[in-house]
Amino acid sequence: MPALETTAEARRSMEICNACRYCEGFCAVFPAMELRRAFSDGDLNYLANLCHGCRGCFYACQYAPPHEFGINLPKILSELRAETYVEYAWPRPMGALFRRNGTVVSLVTAGGIALVLLLATWLQTPGVLFESHLGAGAFYRIIPQWAMTGVALATFFYAVLAIGIGAVRFWRDTGGGKATGVRALAKAASDALTLRNLGGGGHGCNDRDESFSQARRLHHHCMFYGFLLCLASTTSAAIYDHFLHRAAPYPFFSLPVLLGTAGGVGMVIGTFGLIWLKVVGDPEPTARKLWGGEYALLAQLFLAALTGLLLLALRDSSAMGVLLAVHLGVILSFFVTMPYSKFVHGIYRSAALLRNAQERQVAARADYGGH
Ligand code: SF4
Ligand code: SF4
Repeated sequence: MPALETTAEARRSMEICNACRYCEGFCAVFPAMELRRAFSDGDLNYLANLCHGCRGCFYACQYAPPHEFGINLPKILSELRAETYVEYAWPRPMGALFRRNGTVVSLVTAGGIALVLLLATWLQTPGVLFESHLGAGAFYRIIPQWAMTGVALATFFYAVLAIGIGAVRFWRDTGGGKATGVRALAKAASDALTLRNLGGGGHGCNDRDESFSQARRLHHHCMFYGFLLCLASTTSAAIYDHFLHRAAPYPFFSLPVLLGTAGGVGMVIGTFGLIWLKVVGDPEPTARKLWGGEYALLAQLFLAALTGLLLLALRDSSAMGVLLAVHLGVILSFFVTMPYSKFVHGIYRSAALLRNAQERQVAARADYGGH
């Protein structure tokens, strides 16, 4: 469905929901919807990113297919969310290139691995990948430190810049206020970090069908907090290297390795669980055309964690060189695709939760003033 048709269908659905209001206690989307009589494009983009795709409203809806109204909010809001990733992307043509990006992400991942393998054989000697390297600085005998650090920093800061510009565009377009109070920030952070809108008030969401479970929320937590632990591991390794002058690889009982191991295990469990839930789940409340991009991101994160753990386990063997190159290639492709893949849903959803906390405060004040 082209972007204009997606927006028109989301608007039609919201207008029917706003008249019905049966689902108003389900999540943050319905109270936010009820604050509006008409829906601008920015409003719809905000509501689409506020939706966590829990599917509760689909199984509860008396107007869901085969009813002639054909209301399927999780599906249409996920399609609209994907359009926002393209609309607010920087630079915009890159967003369009990565639209429904399963194939592109796979190609970039393969390209990233090939590039690091080539770098290793070009900058060092061809046989270096297949030899054992032991002791401090072993990784730099495969890829020189300047190349590893330079490429990592360039791609990381590019990703941060592109995502930051996208987030500002989203914030402006969806009517986010200039000043944000501490209470609104704390509420949004708590909603984002606990995935409150996937909790269903304690009974969970409709992961697979109309039954309720916490599986999706728990696996997402494993993946997200695992990812944060891996970031902390990389940061501590950089501090060890640049400030304590201790080159990798580090012993198992060191901060970078302990954080990385815990994070890697969390990411493997989380991403595998989310892939499994997609495979066994009811496809009806989902947008099949987005599956490629969603599987691609999960596969990328799964591979990043798995190759990191394998590298730790086999770093004293002759497999270390190839494993390091593959691991770095996956990480490189992850950074390059990050601003255009489904990864940005975390940023836009957090911004939507902040916008929601702001407008609930304003509505509460107006309510209080009216009494
Ligand atoms: S999803 Fe269906 S039941 Fe729920 S508010 Fe919308 S129209 Fe009503
Ligand atoms: S799918 Fe869940 S989060 Fe999205 S609108 Fe429906 S009830 Fe709300």
